[in-house]
Amino acid sequence: MQLPRPLSHSSISMYTECPKRWWFRYVEGVPEKPKHYFSFGRSLHSALEFFYGVNSPPPPGLEELLRAYKSRWVAEGYRDKTQETTYFEEGKSILIAFYHKHCSDFSVPLKVEHSFQTLIEGVPVTGKVDRVDRLPDGRLAVIDYKTGKELAKDRAADDPQLTMYQLGCERDFGALCARLSFYHLPTLEMMDSARHSEAKVEALKRRVVETAQSIRANRFDPRPEERKCLWCDYKPLCPVFRHQFPTSLALAEDDAQDVARDCDDKLAQLVDRYGELQSRAHDLDAELRELKAAIAGLLKRKGYARAFGKRFEASVTREEKWEFPDRPKVLDLIKKAGLYESILRPSAPVVRELMNDPALDPSHRARLEAASELTEIVELTVTPVGAPPAKPPEADAP
Ligand code: SF4
Repeated sequence: MQLPRPLSHSSISMYTECPKRWWFRYVEGVPEKPKHYFSFGRSLHSALEFFYGVNSPPPPGLEELLRAYKSRWVAEGYRDKTQETTYFEEGKSILIAFYHKHCSDFSVPLKVEHSFQTLIEGVPVTGKVDRVDRLPDGRLAVIDYKTGKELAKDRAADDPQLTMYQLGCERDFGALCARLSFYHLPTLEMMDSARHSEAKVEALKRRVVETAQSIRANRFDPRPEERKCLWCDYKPLCPVFRHQFPTSLALAEDDAQDVARDCDDKLAQLVDRYGELQSRAHDLDAELRELKAAIAGLLKRKGYARAFGKRFEASVTREEKWEFPDRPKVLDLIKKAGLYESILRPSAPVVRELMNDPALDPSHRARLEAASELTEIVELTVTPVGAPPAKPPEADAP
């Protein structure tokens, strides 16, 4: 297969740790869940990009820096608001300390967030360098910010990430690197290394080429390891752990490489099917309402309570519902008729009873009828012919 994208230091590391995980991420394109520590790192990187992003000194003030930090804050991946607030405050403290340490030695970098793309033995590689400074002798200083809890003191000396950055920057800027650094933000400690040797550059090139060769040869075997698999987002898709997720995916598939794709296809089919049924249900509902009104109308015109088809029968019950929307007017009519004392409260059934009283003066009845609204509630029941009549709903047990 072709490389789906240029290799980066982090994607090579992922492939080295577990080719199957790389396959899920970069071939299948299944995104990993947002992680709070990545969000925290991105937020601090973005704030420092703002701080060093001016064309000439002075740098932005502390208030401006903190405003930029707040507006660029990446909120995804935190467990809850409390955890997010804790990290936000920690980041703020780091930036305040960083500002006080560096506002006096501030100089405009050669480049911040420098993206490079290059070829290593024909393999496309890419990277993004947090900061590149030009030293007085014209050579380069490469700086990568780290926001994790700990960082080994000697890591800068032989970390392949810095070797790759050295290679990318030297090609892009046409100058040698004099210094490669990890800047550990939580402790404000800069861990420097001299330029990585040609042997390290050659080792990096070999690593890049071998990784590309393995990918092109479709080598994506899982490389399980307890610590890594415990936190791997692809565990439910991974063939190593398939037995632990018997119902979550289309497990009829033997080839785990098809699982993610099948899951997406299945989901799309279900969404479409649901939409189609919903649309049909909507149409059927409208047709049912029309048929009910037509049957009820014909039964009423014929004076029938039931009618038969070949397979179904329909029966209808009717109930009259009287309402008196203009309550003060009805009360006034009742008082004028001298009947106010005869009713306990002028509810609709009581007034209707009053109207049915033969002793009521016809003129009063006519006025009350004029002040009323009559609704007919039609209940239509359709059952298969010969089926026992539907039971009335049972009252709840006391
Ligand atoms: S669960 Fe383990 S073996 Fe499977 S893809 Fe993730 S890291 Fe690799």
